[in-house]
Amino acid sequence: SAKTHGRNRFNYFTPEMQNDAQKRMILVQELKNAIIQQQFELYYQPIVNLTTDKVVKAEALIRWKHPTMGFVPPADFIPIAEETGMIIEIGNWVFNQAIKQSARWSEIFNADIQISINKSPVQFKDETTDVQDWLLQMDELHVNAHHICIEITEGLLLDKEQNVESKLLAYRDAGLEVSLDDFGTGYSSLSYLRKFNIDYLKIDKSFVNNLMPDSNDLSLCEAMIVMAHKLGMKVIAEGIETEEQRALLELAGCDYGQGYWFSHALCHEEFEQKYLQQRAEPIQINQFTAR
Ligand code: C2E
Ligand code: MG
Ligand code: MG
Ligand code: MG
Repeated sequence: SAKTHGRNRFNYFTPEMQNDAQKRMILVQELKNAIIQQQFELYYQPIVNLTTDKVVKAEALIRWKHPTMGFVPPADFIPIAEETGMIIEIGNWVFNQAIKQSARWSEIFNADIQISINKSPVQFKDETTDVQDWLLQMDELHVNAHHICIEITEGLLLDKEQNVESKLLAYRDAGLEVSLDDFGTGYSSLSYLRKFNIDYLKIDKSFVNNLMPDSNDLSLCEAMIVMAHKLGMKVIAEGIETEEQRALLELAGCDYGQGYWFSHALCHEEFEQKYLQQRAEPIQINQFTAR
């Protein structure tokens, strides 16, 4: 590896790679700082029931606001967080933040909103943060299990070494739901759908981008929706940006939609302002503790 080359490592890189490696080193250092200095915020993107037009779910999406670099997109730092293992700490923070939000939305707004949390395969591999620990945290905050959904990607389901099946089962036994994110982009094998119980299939936005009547993409969306429904799953289309895309997907029988057409991801205050209504009467806290 570059490290074992010691002093010679900069000869080992081409000028371009050296630049990238330096950039990466800086980002790794800044990411460590970001955890300590709590530069992250969790945003929430509405997910709409396409039949009723109601916001019934929200995907929790991390935002990193760096003091000088500004907003760093997750695509630029999540892979690094995964490679360095920092995703464990970041992922635990995301989870904790999301379930606190869920408890708050239930208690203050009496809201029936499900929050989806992205969980990377690296987090599944980690034995220090097991499923039971997360379930315990939810219990302590009296979070309704149906209000939490775990988003996984196809790659995880092909991994034979992580007890994925039993971990997903533990979530579902506790009443959480599971989404399969970015569906259609990862692997061509569908055999894993036989083995795993998944509640939602999320059609990747690359199929939605150029959706037009009589297009191949529309045929693919229709086929994915029929397949999902036959297997007992609901379908969420991501990346809906136009009214036409929304209409075509609803016509194709898609259950839920997410995308800029409805809304970008919002900070929790804005989400609450736009989509949740505060209770008229303050409620007693023991109403919830006595569940
Ligand atoms: P994802 O889970 O597939 O999330 C959906 C991404 O699509 C989000 O990007 C969202 O902002 C974007 N999006 C939503 N609607 C539209 C649209 O209409 N058009 C377009 N072009 N994009 C749309 P974001 O927030 O930049 O996140 C990118 C990825 O980073 C996520 O993809 C997810 O894989 C990862 N990520 C984000 N937050 C977390 C997190 O808390 N934990 C983990 N492990 N990964 C996360
Ligand atoms: Mg997702
Ligand atoms: Mg997605
Ligand atoms: Mg995607």
